[in-house]
Amino acid sequence: MTEQAPIWDLIIIGGGASGMSAAVSYQKMHMDRMNSYGQVLVLEKNDRVGKKVLATGNGRCNLSNKDMALTHFHSHETAWAESVLRLVDSESVLTFLGEIGIPVASEGNKIFPMSKSASSVVDAFRFAMKECNVSLETDAEVESIEKTEDIFSVYTKNGNAFFSNHIIVACGGACAPSLGTTGDGYKWLNKFGHKVFAPKPSIVQVVTDNSVTKTLSGLKLDCDLSLNSKDMLLAHQYGEVLFTDYGLSGPAVFQVSGVVSRYNRKNGLSIPMTISLKLFNDEELRLIRVEIGRRISAWGERTLDQLLIGILPGKIASMLLKSALARPLSILIATLSNEDIEKIVKTLKAWKFEVIGTKSLEFAQTTIGGADVSEFSYETMESNLVPGLFACGEVLDVDGDCGGYNLTWAFASGILAGRSVALHAEDEHAE
Ligand SMILES: Cc1cc2nc3c(=O)[nH]c(=O)nc-3n(C[C@H](O)[C@H](O)[C@H](O)COP(=O)(O)OP(=O)(O)OC[C@H]3O[C@@H](n4cnc5c(N)ncnc54)[C@H](O)[C@@H]3O)c2cc1C
Repeated sequence: MTEQAPIWDLIIIGGGASGMSAAVSYQKMHMDRMNSYGQVLVLEKNDRVGKKVLATGNGRCNLSNKDMALTHFHSHETAWAESVLRLVDSESVLTFLGEIGIPVASEGNKIFPMSKSASSVVDAFRFAMKECNVSLETDAEVESIEKTEDIFSVYTKNGNAFFSNHIIVACGGACAPSLGTTGDGYKWLNKFGHKVFAPKPSIVQVVTDNSVTKTLSGLKLDCDLSLNSKDMLLAHQYGEVLFTDYGLSGPAVFQVSGVVSRYNRKNGLSIPMTISLKLFNDEELRLIRVEIGRRISAWGERTLDQLLIGILPGKIASMLLKSALARPLSILIATLSNEDIEKIVKTLKAWKFEVIGTKSLEFAQTTIGGADVSEFSYETMESNLVPGLFACGEVLDVDGDCGGYNLTWAFASGILAGRSVALHAEDEHAE
């Protein structure tokens, strides 16, 4: 260590949703308790902070949800995550965001910034950090962290070294690496003795048998989606499904993708899984059955490809009939039997796609797995193994459903980590 090198009160690694929240929350608490700002430095690998935040909610930043049932959060230690979210609940998160200039508005249950603009969220954080004297180094990719006695040394790839009394690891998970998150925190935490659960993708496209989906690629449907293993229902979601070259995508598929991922092993799924699409409700299916019967009498000389005209878009109707009957679309409607009608209605009720797995972390919106939270205090986010080391956000083994839950986790855990370090520093100061 050179003599001139400053020792920061706090270095935060990662200027994303959780790191920026931690920085502002630390300074606010420091000001409240000690009537001055502390010395805090954010090290960010990208050339600017909040690159992933900019991509959230299709650029609109779905930052929270009115339905904050704790069942929307997942972890090997769900109770631990719940305890953090009780200490800093979604209301406190929204108050914090409001105070830095991010008022919110809702669309259904989803909560967005009033501006509906993710870039205004990043701007609000940038201005807040500047106003409360947070120092920032961009293009600073941290390579390693060491602790000697009570001081942490942080080394960046471009050869710089930084020193601090406290560290918050806020470098995100391992999904969407093009936005800066390449799972770097796992190796540092692991080196400090922390257990890390292997990262897996969630909120991601599902790969299925594509013999049907490939032909329908680009087409969408609103339907009731069920994820099953044999007769067991694993997950259920109503919403939009998009057919793709490799399988299925869209909001309803994203929502169940975490369940597929959790059963995914190196050599494939540990249990067989099927996605069933129910295209109509029971009353509509009853009417469709009657209508098909009527069409068989009235349209006997037409070909099968015309049977579902006006009921489903043409291409989808053709592929569904192929799946249901496995017969050429050129046969006459008059040749259909009662058994065939039942097969068609059964397929409209449960159009089945064999699940193979999910797309990779590269395509995912959040990471399942990460640092074992049971080795951190839920009251402070401090490591139980290394005093002075804190972590927050997606680097920890907590992931949320699609709908604003991951940003809520990032903000809440960042707020808690930042304010805990300020209180920690105050205690040390008093000693
Ligand atoms: C396309 C997309 C859309 C999404 N939409 C939503 C949504 O609408 N609502 C929602 O709730 N969630 C959404 N998410 C998830 C949400 O963005 C993340 O869960 C959240 O940003 C995690 O916050 P974080 O602070 O842990 O990590 P991040 O926000 O990813 O920040 C981590 C930061 O650390 C930096 N970093 C990484 N390694 C290093 C290193 N070695 N040195 C220095 N810096 C480093 C990264 O560059 C990054 O800036 C979306 C994700 C994606 C990919």
